[in-house]
Parts: sequence; structure tokens; C-alpha cells
Amino acid sequence: MSYTQTETAPRSEIRALQNERLRETVRHAYDNVAFYRDELDAAGVSPDDIQTVDDIRQLPFTTKEDFRAEYPDGLFAVDDADVCRIHASSGTTGKPKIVSYTDEDVAVWSEVVARSLAAAGVEPGDTVQNGYGYGLFTGGLGLHYGIEELGATVIPIGGGQTQRQVELLQDLESDALSCTPSYSLYLAETAAEMGIDVADLPVSTVIFGAEPCTNPMREEIEDRLGVTGIDIYGLSEIIGPGVSVECHDAQDGLHIWEDHFYPEVVDPTTGEPLPEGEEGELVLTTLSKEALPVLRYRTGDLTTLTTEKCACGRTMVRMDNVTGRADDLIIVRGVNLYPSEIEDVVLEFDSVAPYYRIDLYREDNLDRLELTIEHETDSEADRNELRDRILTRLENVLSFTPDELELVDPGSIERTEVGKVKRVYDHR
Ligand SMILES: [Zn+2]
Repeated sequence: MSYTQTETAPRSEIRALQNERLRETVRHAYDNVAFYRDELDAAGVSPDDIQTVDDIRQLPFTTKEDFRAEYPDGLFAVDDADVCRIHASSGTTGKPKIVSYTDEDVAVWSEVVARSLAAAGVEPGDTVQNGYGYGLFTGGLGLHYGIEELGATVIPIGGGQTQRQVELLQDLESDALSCTPSYSLYLAETAAEMGIDVADLPVSTVIFGAEPCTNPMREEIEDRLGVTGIDIYGLSEIIGPGVSVECHDAQDGLHIWEDHFYPEVVDPTTGEPLPEGEEGELVLTTLSKEALPVLRYRTGDLTTLTTEKCACGRTMVRMDNVTGRADDLIIVRGVNLYPSEIEDVVLEFDSVAPYYRIDLYREDNLDRLELTIEHETDSEADRNELRDRILTRLENVLSFTPDELELVDPGSIERTEVGKVKRVYDHR
């Protein structure tokens, strides 16, 4: 069941709404944000030149560097008195990106998250344990408001306290859990240590996001927890979680709520728009944001778009599950690799547990990549033989062999209890 009628509207109707909202957004940004006024003037573009979404390519891009340069509030388009909420992205380097919301923005955000939950199969009256971190991070409160908007019950536990999470999941019989993919595995592992098999608990859906997750990783989560794993996507700069979500019916790409967020896919190098079906960088424009309208934001996430009909009946465009972030690209001895590509290959092996780390070194001016993978608890597979098979497979699929591949005992690789998992350690 869709939460709003718009989700299944004819595409012509969605397009008309996008055109109208884009015109308003560009005008709003131009009139109220000096940064956008300067950018458009420099590009020789007037807000009146933007009549339909086909005109969007005339607009300059907005980048994360722009957010940093305009820190803290240079991109805000409303008076301070109209801002009801501030969040910030977790900047690993430099200043965080500060984002703001009006009452109406929070209402839109709650609605798109409620839509996402409904698409994930969560129903009013269900109970959802929200394991995303509360605070400046948009995950916790973003999900929280959406769960309430849907009419479900929220358990606002946030990140960490894993034993208590397991106890509450059992005692309050939650139907769904929202957290990062890596945390859901950690939770299952902790439960097993407590003598509880999460697969036996009522929880039937895990809504995960904030970290890339390959299909083999998702299958691990679904198997271990006995759940359906639903990928939710979003980023603070645009609104937070709830930009797009997989539908429970098809689990085949994430529907973008394109009445609020207009997607494009561009060539990451040239910035030229790419046709539907071709992989490139996702660029998003907000269509209804008041406090922080964002024009053509370069997300750094690689994906493809499709408007093919979905089994669920929703007509909104779908994006591929994001497994590559331009920022995550590893360059080793001239070879370009994404950690997700390694994950994809490694997790195909049954005797391998879903825990790994990649260490990068430079020795005598040469890059060196060491891959450490955890061995499955009950696997009897011979480690040397397994190691050779993984190396051969990596070479065949990625034309790449790590300088060292170590298979370690179950539980050897550090688990992440709070925040996003870290798998790549660059010591160069
Ligand atoms: Zn669908």
C-alpha cells in the first residue's frame, strides 16, 4: 500500500508538479540566498530561464565544498526565527555541513519517511525500534518523526546499548528495526552471545541506511536476522533519510520521492547529464525545501536511474542501491577500486563472515593493500584452500590481487557499536 496517491500518479502529473516546484525553488533560492544569486548571475542564468526540469542543466552545481565555504548558515534562505531545527552532517574532515528546517520542512521530511516506511511494509500500529543515533545526525530524529507520522509506535533507543537493544527487541516485540546494516549484524551477534536467536523474534523488517550495503551483505543480514532488509537512502544536505527507499514488493531499486527531490545522473568527470540506465553520479535538487533549498547537489554517490514500471505500482523513478561513493574510491598502484566491489566478491563465499577490513600502506613508494577477512564460526573449510579460492576470484572479477590476504578467527575484527562502520584504513 502506498502512503500517498502521488506515489502512483501518472508520470505526466509528477512532471507537471516538478516543473512548478522547480520554478518556485529557483526563484526562492535566487531571491534569498546570496550564494545562489551570485552563482546564477555568474552563469548568466536568470530564474525566469528555468521553466521546466529540462532547463535544470543550465543551473550550476552545488558541492560539499560550497556547504563548507558557506559555513555555518550562508545557504539558509529564511530568517532565523523561521528555522525550527538544525542538524549537521558528520564531517570526517573539516567543518560539518550545517542544515536547517522550517516547520513545513519537518512536515515534508516526516511524510517522506512515513512513505518510505509504508513502502518497506511497516504498517500503522506496528512497533519500530529506532537504532539510529539521535542528535545532530539526521538518522535518529528523521526516522523518529516518520514513524510517528505513519501512526506506528517508535522506541527511540538510538545507537549503542546493544544488550538492551536485544532485550527490548524481544520484550516489546518490535515489528521492525531501523539501524545501519553493520549494526544489525552486530546486534544479531550480541544476541547470539546472550543465547537469543534474533531470527526467532517477531522483528520481520530491518530498515537500513547511512552505509553502503552490497546485495551479498543484505542477504547475510536477511539470513541471520530472519528479516526482509530494506535500504533507505538520504543525505543531510538534501533532507536526511527518506529521499528514496526500496519497496517491499519488488526490492529492486529505491523509489525516489521525486515530487520533493529531482534526480539527475551525470558523468562524474565532465558533469554532463547521462541518459537513463547509465551509471554516474547522482545529483539532487530539492523541490519543496524552504529553509535550505539546494540546487543540483553533487552527492558523490554512483547509481543509475530507471522509470520502468515497478511491480509495486509506484510510478516514481528508481535508483540503484548505492554501493560506490566517489569519496570511497581506493586507488592502488593505478587500479581504481571500491570497497563494495571487494565486499561483493568476498561475501559470495559461505565460509566467510560479513566482517572485513582493508589496510593501505605505502612502502618504497609502492602502494600495498592488505585485506583481512573473518572466518565463519562454524565453517570447517580449510583456510589455505579458501584463501586461494578468494584470491583467484578477486583476480578474475576485479583483475586485482591484494598484497596480503589474511583469514582471521571469528570475532577478531573490531565491531562498530555507534556511528558508521569503518572498513578502510589508509595509512599512506
Ligand atoms: Zn516498487
